[in-house]
Amino acid sequence: MSDSHNCIFCKILDGEIPSNKVYEDDRVLAFHDIAPNAPVHVLVIPKEHIPSLNFVDESNNVLIAHIVALIPKLARGLGVSESGYRVVINCGEDSGMAVEHLHFHILGGRHLPQKLG
Ligand code: 5GP
Ligand code: ZN
Repeated sequence: MSDSHNCIFCKILDGEIPSNKVYEDDRVLAFHDIAPNAPVHVLVIPKEHIPSLNFVDESNNVLIAHIVALIPKLARGLGVSESGYRVVINCGEDSGMAVEHLHFHILGGRHLPQKLG
């Protein structure tokens, strides 16, 4: 299991690694992806170190609902509300997940051709 000490996103939360911040509150941080796959590529992460979706259960309901309700507000601010956007959560090896700290990708600003869902 991943630990928060070697976690890139925990280092971003601590300010040890800089990020281009979009939004922050007491529970979450949103920032621009360092290697964007679309004109809009923002990551939304909980401040709590949750290694992946596999570690989410009912005890996280309030946090997860907070993030899901926040995403359309961020999408509006990012200008993709009307044009559309995709929200992606990778989990585990087959998904290609690279950073083991739960994160929601918001992707938009162009047509996203590879529809896997
Ligand atoms: P995953 O593949 O784990 O779902 O997505 C991890 C994302 O984090 C990737 O899109 C990658 O570009 C992004 N990322 C990795 N390291 C950093 C970093 O130091 N800063 C920022 N802003 N994004 C990062
Ligand atoms: Zn972390």
